[in-house]
Amino acid sequence: MAEDLVAASQAVEGQQEAGEDIKMICPKCKVAKLRKRRVKGKAFTVEYCLKCKGVWFDQGELDEVMPEAIKELEVPRGAQKDVEYLCPKCNKALYAFDYPQTYVTINMCKRCGGLWFDRGEFKEIREVRRSLEKWGEMQEYAEVTGVKGALIEFIDSAIKSLPASIRELMK
Ligand SMILES: [Zn+2]
Ligand SMILES: [Zn+2]
Repeated sequence: MAEDLVAASQAVEGQQEAGEDIKMICPKCKVAKLRKRRVKGKAFTVEYCLKCKGVWFDQGELDEVMPEAIKELEVPRGAQKDVEYLCPKCNKALYAFDYPQTYVTINMCKRCGGLWFDRGEFKEIREVRRSLEKWGEMQEYAEVTGVKGALIEFIDSAIKSLPASIRELMK
């Protein structure tokens, strides 16, 4: 928590500008370009859309943040292609699947492994997880293994490792 606050205040100081312009097109808006933001004090960048406030994590960035979790991360079997969302890197349809025990649908590229979160999805996942914890229903996660388990673990650590300043973008 304290670390988050420090990171947030550092990020606010140095990152008032809108972020570096890059050539990736937002998978949701299609017209807006994603912007890259280097997170001060952290060794990673995220791409985000100023228009829809969605956030893209590419595999390389994820690899830097959590190399262990990312090794096992892949699109779950049975996930459906979502033609509404195109990968900003590969221009292929992303796959949609529900974050376990929530109604939050997240999107992932089968080819490059990038992950897309719509505005507010991180927040929603975090809130659902908090209430599950509160009601003691988090125990069930201990039983989840394999890819699904790795995904849960991965997203959990992704949410926790994001500085508050970046999480704000998703509200
Ligand atoms: Zn957008
Ligand atoms: Zn891709």
